[in-house]
Amino acid sequence: MKEICSFSLKDLKVWMEENGEKAFRAPQIFDWIYAKDAQNFDAMTNMSKEFRAKLANEFSFPVLKLLKTQESEDLETIKYLWELPDQKRVESVLIMSGDRRTVCISCQVGCPARCAFCASGKEGLMRNLSPAEIVEQVLHINRSLKGKGERVSHLVFMGMGEPMENYDAVVKAIQIFNAEEGLGISQRRITVSTVGVVEGIHKLAKEELKVNLVLSLHAPNQHIRKKIIPYARKYPFEEVIMAMEAYSRETKRDITYEYTLMEGINDRPQHAEELAQLLSGKQCTVNLIPYNPVDGLRLQRPKREAIEEFREILEQAGINTTWRYTKGKDIAAACGQLALQKS
Ligand code: SF4
Repeated sequence: MKEICSFSLKDLKVWMEENGEKAFRAPQIFDWIYAKDAQNFDAMTNMSKEFRAKLANEFSFPVLKLLKTQESEDLETIKYLWELPDQKRVESVLIMSGDRRTVCISCQVGCPARCAFCASGKEGLMRNLSPAEIVEQVLHINRSLKGKGERVSHLVFMGMGEPMENYDAVVKAIQIFNAEEGLGISQRRITVSTVGVVEGIHKLAKEELKVNLVLSLHAPNQHIRKKIIPYARKYPFEEVIMAMEAYSRETKRDITYEYTLMEGINDRPQHAEELAQLLSGKQCTVNLIPYNPVDGLRLQRPKREAIEEFREILEQAGINTTWRYTKGKDIAAACGQLALQKS
């Protein structure tokens, strides 16, 4: 069976035409799903019973089942555990900060990149998510926010999975998120995070969608990067940086480098100096993320003074630096903590 939330509006119009239906049915269905929050085809009452039955025969909707939500103590983060049609599970996180309602989306079950510091990559890749399995994470959370007069404002592909390794599904989902008839979330509010899949970065630069791109850099040089990010063997440091700069030139989007600080690995003053030298004079932001503990991994979060010193070295070199305040740590929803939960 096809999944209706894997269809962009254009795809759905084509399907209607190929199946002897009027093209105007496509925006009607989009309106029911994305604006009126219909939860099945039966609810789409301005369409005939026969047509609704035909849709229900052809398409599955919804495909995600919500198993559990967990709220952080400060009530600013909610983690959602979903069951997929094959009983596999993924997680998403809603982060509420001021007016922002940001959803951190998963795009794969597990992750092929196996970064040393990340729970999602511990068991490798199980499978890619379909566009519908990506879209419905946001659709559901948006629906629950609407009940409070709010809506999802920002999206980040920073949950489980490497977006460039599920490229087509991620791009399709972004088209649906961005479409006015879909969720209407502006491209500027959508961020894709990659560990540095060079051909994916170049391909994304050519898309009509000009989303923000973030690189998980996490090291000041190839030697350290290779130790913590196995993909660095395939995509050398300089090539990845060059691809990011090309993306920025092509799309006019600023570059952000994520840098997870791990004690004794990449948090020393000399590492900050090396990073400062590398990025000096470049239009970019470095987002420092103190490491979030993951069960079964021996890595440590650096002391606060070490983080402050690292930041100061970068700032003195004129590099725009942010320090991400970690939300959702108590429910294992912080960066790098999403895992293949069994319950
Ligand atoms: S940090 Fe990102 S790319 Fe690396 S294993 Fe985790 S989810 Fe995959």
